[in-house]
Amino acid sequence: MISVKKALSIIEKVKYSVGTEYIASNKALGRIVSENVLSKTDNPPFNMSAMDGYAVCNKPHNKVYKVVGEIFAGHSMSKKKILKNEAVRVYTGSKLPQGTTTVIIQEKTKVLDNNFILHTNNSLKIGEYVRKKGLDFKKNKTIIKSGKILNARDIALLISANCKNIKVFKKPKVSILSTGDELIFSEKIKKDSNIFASSLYMLEALIHLSFSECIHKTIVKDNKNKIKKALREAIKSDIIITTGGVSVGKKDLIRSSLIELGFEEKFWKITMRPGKPLLFGILKSKPVFSLPGNPVSTYVCFLIFIFPFLIKILNLKNNYYKKIAKLANNTKLASKRESYLRGFFYKQNNENFVKCLSNQDSSLLNMLATSNCLIKIPSNKKYSKNMFVEIILFPPLF
Ligand code: AMP
Ligand code: MG
Repeated sequence: MISVKKALSIIEKVKYSVGTEYIASNKALGRIVSENVLSKTDNPPFNMSAMDGYAVCNKPHNKVYKVVGEIFAGHSMSKKKILKNEAVRVYTGSKLPQGTTTVIIQEKTKVLDNNFILHTNNSLKIGEYVRKKGLDFKKNKTIIKSGKILNARDIALLISANCKNIKVFKKPKVSILSTGDELIFSEKIKKDSNIFASSLYMLEALIHLSFSECIHKTIVKDNKNKIKKALREAIKSDIIITTGGVSVGKKDLIRSSLIELGFEEKFWKITMRPGKPLLFGILKSKPVFSLPGNPVSTYVCFLIFIFPFLIKILNLKNNYYKKIAKLANNTKLASKRESYLRGFFYKQNNENFVKCLSNQDSSLLNMLATSNCLIKIPSNKKYSKNMFVEIILFPPLF
């Protein structure tokens, strides 16, 4: 058995990359940019009116202007030259006619007879109410840096910059194999001894939240030939995750099946609670994480070991949400193994508190769903109320 720290350092030494690809910017939400993005146009692409009003030239002392045309947003004007005592009716987003520099807002004008307007305020500030070409950003400027996870605002930025395609990291492709004679898919009718393979779906969601893609998920019976066949199929993915069947029971056949297929075992069993039987190694150059079957163990092992691995592949910073909080209740649970207990973090009078949830059995999904963090308790340490502990907050939607 090795420590959690040692296990993490072994996993970290495994080098794996998935490469990059070009994708359409309008489909890039949540993807990670793999090289700086340069704008392909100025934005705005032309001098534009910021208000509804009248575009005029750079002559501040006029009071009366003749309105010689009208431009709506999306249109332009054929008239070549606007004279100093002329004005053009414009609206928000209108492209300004050549030579005009300033917009007099319509609230500051009075319409006179015969298409004349009176500027009711004498002080014309040159350039007022004009969004100059390139005000937002200039052509060939870095608008998004490599490594950024694209949000909805970035999509707008890319589209306005005329960047139709961008280079992003490929999503690591993951296969999940849940093993167990008792397991069934969610849409199946449950018989007496069945249980739904809930953590298969949880893992699929977690993979999606980790900027990766679950390309294959399956349930396999506790049968060596079937497990080996499923593993051989799973090799097409970048990473393989198995659940269940990895401990020392008679029907725990994952490890022996992997070994028969030429598995290069990196470690098996860690001093961790939950998660003790975790198995990790390489099968035909693909990393394999074999997680224990209890859903809470599966979850904790994903968060502590697989999430950082995926994050590293994608060149992201390990954004564990670690905090120190005061224990709000007593925990009776001291263990020889480093423990990751389900907790509930909250703030009171600006102080961090965490309540250790009452039942820590690793099969309890309701407790897991109620919790919002893990409390990390070092091995052989007893903690009591009001002591400070390290917690790991669950990332958004985890
Ligand atoms: P095992 O690690 O195979 O001994 O399984 C431990 C416990 O977890 C058993 O009660 C299994 O029925 C349960 N289990 C295994 N796989 C899953 C799964 N995918 N979803 C929910 N429970 C599971
Ligand atoms: Mg089993």
